[in-house]
Amino acid sequence: MNKKKVWLSSPHMGGNEEKYVQEAFDTNWIAPLGPNVNGFEKDLENYINDSSSIATLASGTAAIHLALILLGVKTGDLVLCQSFTFSASANPITYVGAQPIFIDSESDTWNMNPELLEKAILDSIQKAKKPKAIMIVHLYGMPAKMEEIQRIADQYDIPIIEDAAEALGSQYKNQKCGILGNFGILSFNGNKIITTSGGGALVCKTEKDKQKAIFLATQARDDAPHYQHSEIGYNYRMSNVVAGIGRGQMQVIDKRVAQRRANFEYYKKHLSSLSNISFLEEPTGLFSNRWLTTILTDSFETREKIRLALEEKNIEARPLWKPMHLQPVFKDYKAYINGISEDLFMRGLCLPSGSNLTETDLQRVITELLSVT
Ligand SMILES: *Cc1c(COP(=O)(O)O)cnc(C)c1O
Repeated sequence: MNKKKVWLSSPHMGGNEEKYVQEAFDTNWIAPLGPNVNGFEKDLENYINDSSSIATLASGTAAIHLALILLGVKTGDLVLCQSFTFSASANPITYVGAQPIFIDSESDTWNMNPELLEKAILDSIQKAKKPKAIMIVHLYGMPAKMEEIQRIADQYDIPIIEDAAEALGSQYKNQKCGILGNFGILSFNGNKIITTSGGGALVCKTEKDKQKAIFLATQARDDAPHYQHSEIGYNYRMSNVVAGIGRGQMQVIDKRVAQRRANFEYYKKHLSSLSNISFLEEPTGLFSNRWLTTILTDSFETREKIRLALEEKNIEARPLWKPMHLQPVFKDYKAYINGISEDLFMRGLCLPSGSNLTETDLQRVITELLSVT
């Protein structure tokens, strides 16, 4: 193996994270509550939308689970879920005993196709079972077609869960992603645009929903001197230690978005001579954080040739996410398919996209791509 590894998306600290973590130790707030948790939630609320109420949690997956519970999704219910996503969007649907129905993508944003969504709703209603929720995703940071999806959601009165785990800092028509649905999901896993090593958040529209989420996330303890429970609870709250990392990361979020977007522009500029590679452009009004720079090649063979050549040079690249309807674990669920997400999976590749990549790192990737294509 030659030279140091170039990662797909590695953590990038801003500098003040350890100060907040040290404060947690100095004050002995080593618990799933405390000043860092409150401070991180405030920072997120100020960033996403002043009117939002945000609960920080142990993971983005936990946030999706709680959103489903808060919307009353139960055993036997149906949830319409974008197929082109990471498995964490779909897994919690099964935690509550509901069934996912997978919806394919459209080619402008690669996210949920509104026509297929409406078809799935009409089919379900015809069978006398209206779906309980719509799980949309802003994959790789590109916002989904929210207006079209919201119109359908309103028409049939079905709430939207907005999986913005990859889209912190992205915007749909000047509104931050995460505030666009009935509930929004954020993730601070190690590979995301900012990280707390592991963690997530549930974006709520009301303080009441936030307090209910916190109640469920802390074992659903009733107000009593002894331990008393009238509901099933979970241990999903974020630790005050890792929330300190989050406070440091929020000081540099705008920089991180700018750096990720600069990676995209750099790749695009230096690879523009290649006719067999294309990039996903931002539709008018949409602003992507460009969490990962993705390319679409002309064939599965070209995609693999590039991926293996990069691997040979100690550069991490990854095929676009394999759609849920093609996953062995979800293959028996109903799906509305048009071939788009399967084609993206076959021909697409994620390039190294960390905000801490140097120009030398980017040049290594580009040199390799120019030489094999
Ligand atoms: C990372 C991710 C999640 C889950 O977040 P965790 O914090 O890792 O549990 C959910 N959805 C998508 C699209 C993701 O990329």
